[in-house]
Amino acid sequence: MRTAEILRFGMFINGEFTSPGASKPMQIAFPYDRRIWAEVPEGQPEDVERAVSAAREAFDNGWGRTAPSHRGELMIRLARAIRENGERLAEMETRCNGKLLAEARSQMKASAKWFEFYAGLAEVIFGHSIPLGKKDTLDYTVREPYGVIGAIVPWNSPLLLLSYKVAPALAAGNAVVIKPAEQTPVTALEFARLAVEAGFPKGVINVVTGRGGIAGNALVNSRGVDKLAFTGGTETGRHVGRAAGANLKPVTLELGGKSPNIVFADADMDKALIGVVRGIFSAGGQTCRAGSRLLLDRNIAGSFLDKLVELASTMKLGDPLADDVQMGPIVSEQQVMRIDELVQDAAAKGANVLLGGHRVRRDDRDTLFYPPTILDNVDSSMRVLQEEVFGPVLCVLRFDDEDECLRIANDTSYGLSAGVWTQDINRALRMTANLVAGSVWVNTYREASHLVPFGGYKDSGHGRENGLEALWENTRIKNVWIDYSDETKNPFVLQL
Ligand code: NAD
Repeated sequence: MRTAEILRFGMFINGEFTSPGASKPMQIAFPYDRRIWAEVPEGQPEDVERAVSAAREAFDNGWGRTAPSHRGELMIRLARAIRENGERLAEMETRCNGKLLAEARSQMKASAKWFEFYAGLAEVIFGHSIPLGKKDTLDYTVREPYGVIGAIVPWNSPLLLLSYKVAPALAAGNAVVIKPAEQTPVTALEFARLAVEAGFPKGVINVVTGRGGIAGNALVNSRGVDKLAFTGGTETGRHVGRAAGANLKPVTLELGGKSPNIVFADADMDKALIGVVRGIFSAGGQTCRAGSRLLLDRNIAGSFLDKLVELASTMKLGDPLADDVQMGPIVSEQQVMRIDELVQDAAAKGANVLLGGHRVRRDDRDTLFYPPTILDNVDSSMRVLQEEVFGPVLCVLRFDDEDECLRIANDTSYGLSAGVWTQDINRALRMTANLVAGSVWVNTYREASHLVPFGGYKDSGHGRENGLEALWENTRIKNVWIDYSDETKNPFVLQL
């Protein structure tokens, strides 16, 4: 990719790019060197309405009634196009959000996999017949698409999280309007172009770039949208949920987390150590499922922390496009400032900073890098223990027994995920049964698959993405009741 020149994109509405210069531009900078390399339009409510109308027209004009096998074929072609363009798309993502190219590459492959999986499922969207036990009566259900789905995506894993929403939506026969995050709109636009090249009819996939408070808000409130699928922060999720409620629209909310990663004294310590580091420091902690609270059995806390600090301090920070780098920069100045604010608040209230704790300065200037940070002696008066940091910051807590461990682990308004490290099967099963979280990993952490449903409990949201569950979330059920008797019924009294 040549980056000397600025790439200018339009929005993608009704099968084509809008003219790039037609709206005010938003600039995209590579967080590593802060150079601007792309521009996209700042979409307005009227752009959203055009996109929603295009999606509605595409749906009504036949997309909603296409043969499932045809939708599946188009999705397979789209998956191939994502694979063929994987390297370029991955580099674009890294240049938008600063995450490692190696991780972006694997996410491009995974995105293709998501389309392949749901392509196969397009043909198994069966209803069922219901044996009512009534004479000469047939009853059956049909799963139908909603129509137009509004998909709002965050910046941390842009194309993959888009695929979580769009692949099952298309398989079920919906049309979509996508609002990517301000920081990472480029791969969504490239995706839409590839989809049309793969043969998707115009209007089935639309992308409106722009700010959350303007374009996102317009999409959330559009009367033409039949269902919303949102991934982002919990506060934004509340707003989206309220708007959906006011318009009586179904909504899937995939929100933030404050997930516990729990190490018992009987764990395989080498494995647990790697799992804890991967859980919080990979991707710079900028993942909803980050294991941001480390719960340690008091008996092993000292030795575990010594090894943890030693391993985490070896992480190499640098250019996320380079193969030997292990952590890239944080996505934006605003995000680094927020991370630092939470760390300084904790330090001022008595937290013990075992590693990191300050943003990285080079040549007397602040950078967007934040080092792996480990905070011991934290308590609930500190914001860092209550709020999602979305950065490489780990809070350490200790427990004496399982009951205390569970109490601490569940003492959060979030409920996205949890990790348990133990070699005792009974303990593992007790923990999985009692942790209040949508995903629990045992002796591993931060796993994901197209086959596995994912979503939160409590303030981490509701609804499920991925797996068969996501397919059902993108359909609504019609019941059909047929009386084929010749009987005449009493017109005045309904007999149930
Ligand atoms: P964010 O909530 O600021 O933004 C997410 C998206 O919502 C963006 O596209 C943004 O433009 C849009 N948006 C913002 N305000 C809006 C409004 N008023 N109306 C409609 N749309 C609006 O989140 P972010 O900073 O982009 O992403 C980080 C957050 O996402 C973290 O909290 C993280 O935990 C969460 N996340 C959750 C999951 C999950 O599956 N549970 C996955 C990844 C990220």
